[in-house]
Amino acid sequence: MLTVKEKRDALVEHEELCDHCLGRQFAKLGHGLENYERGAICRKIDEIDEDSFVRENIPEDAELGGSCEYCKDVFDRMDHWVKLVVDSFERYELNSFLIGIRPPNEVIDQEEKLWEEYGLEWVEPIKTELSRLIGKEIEEEMGIEVDFERADINAVVEMDENKDRVELQVNSLLVYGQYNKYSREIPQTEWHCRNCRGDGCDECDWTGKQYQESVQKIIQEPFMRESRAIEAKFHGGGREDVDAKCLGRREFVLELVEPLNRNLDLEELQEEVNSSQNKVEIFDIQNTHKDKAADIKQKHADKTYRAEVKLDEEVSEEDLEKLSKIEGEVVQRTPQRVEHRRADKNRERQVYSISWEKLDNKKIELEVEAEAGTYIKELVHGDDGRSDPSVTELLGTAAEVEKLDVIDIEK
Ligand SMILES: [Zn+2]
Ligand SMILES: [Zn+2]
Repeated sequence: MLTVKEKRDALVEHEELCDHCLGRQFAKLGHGLENYERGAICRKIDEIDEDSFVRENIPEDAELGGSCEYCKDVFDRMDHWVKLVVDSFERYELNSFLIGIRPPNEVIDQEEKLWEEYGLEWVEPIKTELSRLIGKEIEEEMGIEVDFERADINAVVEMDENKDRVELQVNSLLVYGQYNKYSREIPQTEWHCRNCRGDGCDECDWTGKQYQESVQKIIQEPFMRESRAIEAKFHGGGREDVDAKCLGRREFVLELVEPLNRNLDLEELQEEVNSSQNKVEIFDIQNTHKDKAADIKQKHADKTYRAEVKLDEEVSEEDLEKLSKIEGEVVQRTPQRVEHRRADKNRERQVYSISWEKLDNKKIELEVEAEAGTYIKELVHGDDGRSDPSVTELLGTAAEVEKLDVIDIEK
């Protein structure tokens, strides 16, 4: 391995490098210096070593710019690259960004040749230097910040003679909230018409939809309008059936894809959703990030349900006592009603508590607290013995849920 002095001497003698390219071979040495400053130090200090790369050693005439056979003229064209990116950002309201660089192929080839010849010790790739320098300029010019984790936009600058260009990836705007659903007639998200599968037919009035409204549609409308996103995706923390109300504030993340506007007045939008209709109410709207959507989806929250149950035959208060046997483990084979879209298997779920009230001779109200994923309708009617135990089995008479509400969701 070469010492700093040996490497410097060899590079200066055999290669015609500009200060950027020379300094970049020593980029890991010293703190708070730019590579062209390291290059200038290399030329100035004869007896150079690891400790020479300090601010005091920078010659006064060190300057950004200059070009050579290795970097071509990429550093001379900084203003051009910055303008290219700034122009491409123009339509978007942004708070953060990330820059990637694809230098010209010949520059990459030359760089690799140098690494092979003089070693990889202390080097920085040219694209890292370029993205840092360009990023810094954009931060200053636009007042937005580089964010390596969660940038609003990713820009890749393609540096290629005759066809310089910027590729953009506009990241989604994510909004967290909770909702209640007060209607037994709308699904959580849009469904295609069962008859035409979305193409449009007489049955769906040529809308292609099974339901004209959904929780998603009601919530997303003003958000789409204000953000001017191209589409919205709805990530719910589970979902209730179409005919079930949800009063337990279900978590969701609304993903607004490729929005032009990001700084939305969330409070005002929440108010707009809530005052414009009475089927859905939203709460706690706030900005969030992509991980949150995955987070609430795999949360497996326990829930409490209230079910109005119709019985085939009259039962006594004494009979109802048998229902306490439902507490504990229940085994549920995949219900017949979802069989076509879920794997057929047995699932064990915990029922934490059950309480009941007789409404009339053939009607009871149940309150059931159960583990995430418990099928409540099946727990009641038994699904031909596929749910064990069940209300039907324990009471010895057919039982059917008439109304179902989710009244609490563990957060
Ligand atoms: Zn150069
Ligand atoms: Zn249709």
